[in-house]
Amino acid sequence: MPLYEFRCRSCDRVFDRRLSHQDRHQVTPCPEGHADTVRLLSRFSTARAQAVPALTPCGAPSPGGCGGGGCGGGACHAG
Ligand SMILES: [Zn+2]
Repeated sequence: MPLYEFRCRSCDRVFDRRLSHQDRHQVTPCPEGHADTVRLLSRFSTARAQAVPALTPCGAPSPGGCGGGGCGGGACHAG
């Protein structure tokens, strides 16, 4: 069965489910039990969206710009 990826609009959680062709149009609740979920177009687009480094704590555009000591703990070394 194909693997579909969903995102919950209640808790913003992304999860995937294997659904048969008939089941793919049914409501698929998230692991937290919320029914307000949307099916994502593909795993590819989701992976790219998550890869955008928008959560750098110090706001630096690149890991090399985080040397000011404002973001210790290795939080900026995700790249
Ligand atoms: Zn949820």
